[in-house]
Amino acid sequence: MFTDYVKIWIKSGDGGNGAISFRREKYVAAGGPDGGDGGKGGDIYFEVDPDANTLIDFRYKKKFKAQNGANGEGAHRYGKSGEDLSIGVPIGTIVKDAQTGKILADLSEKGQKTLILAGGRGGKGNSHFATSTRQAPRFAQDGEKGEEKEVILELKLLADVGLIGFPNVGKSTFLSKTTSATPKIADYHFTTLEPNLGVVKSKYGDSFVIADIPGIIEGASKGTGLGLQFLRHIERTRLLLHVIDVSGSEGRNPVEDFTVINQELKEYSEKLANRKQIIVANKIDIMQDESLYIALEKLAKQKNMEIFKISAATGEGIDKLLHRVVEVLKTLPKEEIIPIADKKVYTLEEEEPPFTIKKENGIFIVEGKAVEKIMRSVNISDNESLYYFHKHMSELGLDEALKKAGIQEEDIVKIGDYELEWYD
Ligand code: GDP
Ligand code: MG
Repeated sequence: MFTDYVKIWIKSGDGGNGAISFRREKYVAAGGPDGGDGGKGGDIYFEVDPDANTLIDFRYKKKFKAQNGANGEGAHRYGKSGEDLSIGVPIGTIVKDAQTGKILADLSEKGQKTLILAGGRGGKGNSHFATSTRQAPRFAQDGEKGEEKEVILELKLLADVGLIGFPNVGKSTFLSKTTSATPKIADYHFTTLEPNLGVVKSKYGDSFVIADIPGIIEGASKGTGLGLQFLRHIERTRLLLHVIDVSGSEGRNPVEDFTVINQELKEYSEKLANRKQIIVANKIDIMQDESLYIALEKLAKQKNMEIFKISAATGEGIDKLLHRVVEVLKTLPKEEIIPIADKKVYTLEEEEPPFTIKKENGIFIVEGKAVEKIMRSVNISDNESLYYFHKHMSELGLDEALKKAGIQEEDIVKIGDYELEWYD
């Protein structure tokens, strides 16, 4: 199985800042505080997109950011919330934290949508901070910053299209021309044992996966060729491209080749033999005797199969064929079996203590999501805002804990990026 793998960067929206504003009325010098709250930042979701087959689009766009919340305004006007961003991925995609490798989401069900990063909370406007003793608060809360993360998207690919045909007819060449795969191209009748897979770009419509199925002939059906695992893989393809050398350059007979391969296929797997086939008449650039092709075309008509003339070497006819493949794939049902993660792991965020304290070089370092979160929404240069912060911290028990840890007057306390001096 081939795994498509891509690393992208995502960020949820920042919360808007709360407003500092005072009511202005006629004949009143300064009214009460009326600063509105900032809007919430947009969330980042991942969602199953039923039309997507591969992760190829993420090779071109790798950064995704949800909208920020708007700032609050005077007259109690709230800031608008930032719009959420939902990123569509093919069914079967696993989202992992790039740093920890933890699985954040396993999008293996139709219609599934999972929240990955929440947007930052909007800051409160100054109207929230008025008390009987502080009637004109000159501070508001800043919005909480959004979160950012590097995530890895992983998708086990099943081939949509299988390439079959005799050795040396041009299967590897075709794959290398249409995808970024680099299969071995050989001028002799050896075949690689691993199926080569490649993703055909979406310039033709939906992207899809092609597998080069080498060596189906040469006793494969007798079990001497490729293994069972390989068979399972190609049995899942929805469409077969039967590549036939029509040039006559190697003395091959296209009609005979077609018949032999299909007979092999039938012995190998009844299921595969019944799969829809498109005939690909290759090497037309060196066609010596057109009658070989004409005979094959006649056979195709009898079998009610489509036939396309191409040259894998020069590229002639390939675009037309691929456009048709995309159209045909749309009409063929997808295998119901959905590749899922090796292990389905849904881990909840572990319960964290609000903070931890450690002492390094005489500095008290306070860490923890809860305190850092509060810290992020404090305007450190504003005394009143700081006061508000202190109040929160002592509510969390930080003061007590610091004293217990032996803190003295003027010792330094480091929280997040800030260093504060301690006064009791
Ligand atoms: P495979 O065994 O079916 O995978 O065949 P390869 O792709 O390895 O091709 C076998 C040989 O045929 C190589 O030497 C290719 O360069 C050559 N070949 C493949 N396609 C074409 C074609 O369209 N025109 C010409 N002239 N040669 C081709
Ligand atoms: Mg090959």
